Amino acid sequence: MTAGKLIVLTGPSGVGKGTLLRSLRQRHPDLCLSISATTRPPRQGEVDGVDYHFLSRQGFQEKIAQDAFVEWAEFAGNYYGTPRQSLETQMAQGHWVILEIEVEGARQVRRSFPEALLIFVRPPSFAELERRLRGRDRDSEAAIQRRLERAKEELQAADEFDVQVTNAVVEEALRELESAVFG
Ligand code: 5GP
Repeated sequence: MTAGKLIVLTGPSGVGKGTLLRSLRQRHPDLCLSISATTRPPRQGEVDGVDYHFLSRQGFQEKIAQDAFVEWAEFAGNYYGTPRQSLETQMAQGHWVILEIEVEGARQVRRSFPEALLIFVRPPSFAELERRLRGRDRDSEAAIQRRLERAKEELQAADEFDVQVTNAVVEEALRELESAVFG
């Protein structure tokens, strides 16, 4: 059985991880994306089982108790986690799998999968991160404030990761991401 490669994209909310990942997958459709579970309510247009597996808090806690997550964390008042079974199946089939997760979860992945490639995406500045978080108009003011507070801590963790990519210009960040992933 071939073991796949595990790649983690982390960094603060609003930095553009999702956009980078979508572009990367368009160019490399063979890369698999892990679909996370969350207790956050779906945003407009988000589909259960596609964007996330949307769970109740109780449902999520039951899965924690069953050890059903490779990693999980509380972020801005909600739980987020990577389901173990689908990840293990994809890896066992030899696929390259990408997780798009916050920093605490990335640290847990590093402990469980020391061979994983961990990539931290930075904003060009804190002011630009705030502008992006507000500009995407997805979250309430309270949620934006929680995400900004968390971002301050997350940015201090950047040095812990294998590669840092600054997302100032998407095309450039994408090229750096590609060279980190494909060498
Ligand atoms: P959002 O609510 O904006 O979709 O996600 C909030 C944060 O949670 C983002 O930084 C996102 O990368 C992170 N996240 C998404 N899925 C997971 C997961 O499975 N585990 C962890 N630890 N973080 C996640």
